[in-house]
Amino acid sequence: MSEIPKTPENGEAKVEVVQNEEEEEKQETNKWLLCLKTNFLTLATVGGVVCGIIVGVVLKETVGSFSKREVMYVSYIGDVFLRMLKSLIIPLIVSSLVSAIASLDLSLSGRIAARAIAYYLTTTFLAVVLGIVLVASIQPGSNHGGGSNSEINTSSVQRNVTTVDTLLDLVKNMFPPNVIQACTQQHRTNLVPPMKTPNETDLYKWDIEEELVNGTNILGLVVIAIVVGIALAQLGEETKTLANFFHNLMALSMRITTWIIRLSPVGILFLVTAKIMEMEDMAMVLSQLGLYFATVMAGLLIQGFVVLPLIYFVLTRKSPITYLVNMSQAVATAFGTASSSATLPITIQCLEEKNGIDPRVARFALPIGAAINMDGTALYEAIAAIFIAQVRGVDLSIGSYIAISITATAASIGAAGIPQAGLVTLVMVLDTVGLPAEDVSLILAVDWLLDRFRTAINVMGDAYGAGIVHFRSKKELQNL
Ligand code: ASP
Repeated sequence: MSEIPKTPENGEAKVEVVQNEEEEEKQETNKWLLCLKTNFLTLATVGGVVCGIIVGVVLKETVGSFSKREVMYVSYIGDVFLRMLKSLIIPLIVSSLVSAIASLDLSLSGRIAARAIAYYLTTTFLAVVLGIVLVASIQPGSNHGGGSNSEINTSSVQRNVTTVDTLLDLVKNMFPPNVIQACTQQHRTNLVPPMKTPNETDLYKWDIEEELVNGTNILGLVVIAIVVGIALAQLGEETKTLANFFHNLMALSMRITTWIIRLSPVGILFLVTAKIMEMEDMAMVLSQLGLYFATVMAGLLIQGFVVLPLIYFVLTRKSPITYLVNMSQAVATAFGTASSSATLPITIQCLEEKNGIDPRVARFALPIGAAINMDGTALYEAIAAIFIAQVRGVDLSIGSYIAISITATAASIGAAGIPQAGLVTLVMVLDTVGLPAEDVSLILAVDWLLDRFRTAINVMGDAYGAGIVHFRSKKELQNL
């Protein structure tokens, strides 16, 4: 073999090649490090969900059952995290809506609102139809071999309500008589058996009582904030100081959000672990409710990973996958907290910072979406009501299906963005097909888990919606 003579030139060339290779390697590593650094929190949050499930299952398998106190100790850190997130809901919703509307031209606000509402109604309706098609074709509630419906656990009695009262309560709550009260309480109609005829079974003949229940009246706050925003936009210069106040309050809430977000991986890990520790024997529950569970899951997956991304792609011509990856932290938080309202600060952050959504759109569309747009809940309400009718052997006519689709949409709008709110408004859908409120207990055992998945889809629906509205309003926003 002839050896290449070593000259100073090719020696230098070799050194240069090595140096170039080292430089490239360094750049590659830097790229990875940067990518890891920017996505660390997202990866850690998703990791928090996965680790929470693993730790929970391992503890459950090795120890068996846990006392309420033990579960409380494990969920403690998660609960503290949740309280921090919740403390941001009111300042964030009010300030974001007021400042977004006040900073927009009123006719543009109107167009953005119309686009958002058209999207919410279309996707909610599609979710309900998808749910009905799945539950009618799979028939999880009819006894076909596998599940033994008679064994389904029926415990705990729910409150008595009628569809009319629920709808009237929804509208009443949109107009709270007092802002302070709206921050802490909601109005609710309570039906009690009449004194003279205590055995009366027709709920419409029962006595009506009005009561105030604890919980933020988010819908009321949303309406107040929209009205204040419109008034500020009309008054313009005259009320500039007040508009600036809301603007600053928004900036403040977002800054605090960035601090709280850093705690999300740990908070979510503890929340998920504790929830798995307190669950009933899942194998037994799934053997009874497995097909129902699978039907809801199939619907949620189709809605979240086929229908919504497809609508997003068709209307924006952009990759729905990148969009979804960028908001995975919000989706993981939704799963961990089971509350779209508590997830709102993180959803806004993800959309503005990672997906580049115009803050005026994100701050306008997301709070409204978190309050009224719930695709996952709508789909679940339709499936659950029809499943219960199947278990009870109630024959449903076409009219009943139509009634279910309308009430399931209304029930999802009326459900608050808090854990298992959908279970409460499900009573209204059951009422339309003449089923008693107590029948909600048929699906109670798996509801906490389905709640987490449907909340994740609810948040995805809001996020895709904001993306579409942003894209469709881009030109108008630029001209402002
Ligand atoms: N937990 C859901 C949410 O916050 C509502 C529900 O379906 O119960 O979006």
